[in-house]
Amino acid sequence: VGGLKKILHKLEDIEVFEDKDLTKFSTLQLKARGDLIRVKSVKSLSNLLGKFFDNNIDYTLLGWGANTLLKEKSEKPYIQLAFPIPDDCLKIFRERYVLPANIGLNILTSHASKFCLSGWEVFTGVPASLGGAIFMNAGTNLGEIGNLVESVQIIDKKGTEKKIEVDKNSFSYRKNNFLKPGDVIVSATLIHMGKDTDIPNKIRDYLNFRKQSQPLQKKTCGCTFKNKIVSNSGVEATCHAGQYIDKLGLKGFRYKNLRISPVHANFIENLGESTYTDFVEFVGIINDELELHYGFKFDLEVRL
Ligand SMILES: Cc1cc2nc3c(=O)[nH]c(=O)nc-3n(C[C@H](O)[C@H](O)[C@H](O)COP(=O)(O)OP(=O)(O)OC[C@H]3O[C@@H](n4cnc5c(N)ncnc54)[C@H](O)[C@@H]3O)c2cc1C
Repeated sequence: VGGLKKILHKLEDIEVFEDKDLTKFSTLQLKARGDLIRVKSVKSLSNLLGKFFDNNIDYTLLGWGANTLLKEKSEKPYIQLAFPIPDDCLKIFRERYVLPANIGLNILTSHASKFCLSGWEVFTGVPASLGGAIFMNAGTNLGEIGNLVESVQIIDKKGTEKKIEVDKNSFSYRKNNFLKPGDVIVSATLIHMGKDTDIPNKIRDYLNFRKQSQPLQKKTCGCTFKNKIVSNSGVEATCHAGQYIDKLGLKGFRYKNLRISPVHANFIENLGESTYTDFVEFVGIINDELELHYGFKFDLEVRL
């Protein structure tokens, strides 16, 4: 029995997989192996984090892996939430929704479409768990999820459960400002802006737009680079990373088994058995090219 299993053998409601093939645990599907712990209840998560704290073990939370690059051999164990989704949480229209962090945004989008929830269209088509979306303040050009979050329930690195009230200052572009290292979101309370009968149309149109403008059938991690705000003589403008890469004629440019998507220049497609190292090298090459031509690099949106 390996080290992790020994330390965690008394804990209930968890499954431990040592040295598991994790290639399919991220949407980019880089070749990856590591230890994975599936946690089935909030109490077991609290016990697990307490144990990790006592044994000085660091960990990484994994949602849908839609914005995370997994390493060929991870030193830290991954934790994946597998809480039961209550049957009744999305059956009826509510003023506010208390939802487990592992619920998929796609399920929330279906609910928003059915009950015409204004505000919930902002995350249409974003592949994510609710926890991953809040961590990243995921959004589209319709808005960001941060504006819909009223509070989150977390377990901190010592295993203590806490409630954090949040507002719009708790978020910035693709970033939350309130979680501390090791905090795990276990559930969140979401609000909306009332009913709007146009929401189902907005959601449908936006899904169609995404189908045409993004390589949704390929293995990617969404946008690789963050857009950049630059200030020129006091006037702020957003530089869209994809447009800058496209202007250099780099759509379709290939490095090993990775290529810049011919459909969307900020997406990198994994065409074969690529690795974390390949991806980091490729991103470095693209950023060097951007710096050479425009005088600046773009920060990564994807988390290394
Ligand atoms: C095809 C495609 C299109 C995309 N389009 C968009 C888009 O339009 N807009 C956008 O914003 N993003 C987009 N993305 C990126 C991605 O969907 C988002 O960043 C999303 O929020 C990631 O959620 P996740 O559950 O996969 O998180 P993961 O990638 O698994 O994790 C992301 C980060 O959140 C942390 N985390 C996850 N769950 C928790 C939790 N419960 N508690 C604490 N920390 C947690 C992880 O440790 C990690 O640091 C796209 C990705 C793909 C593949």
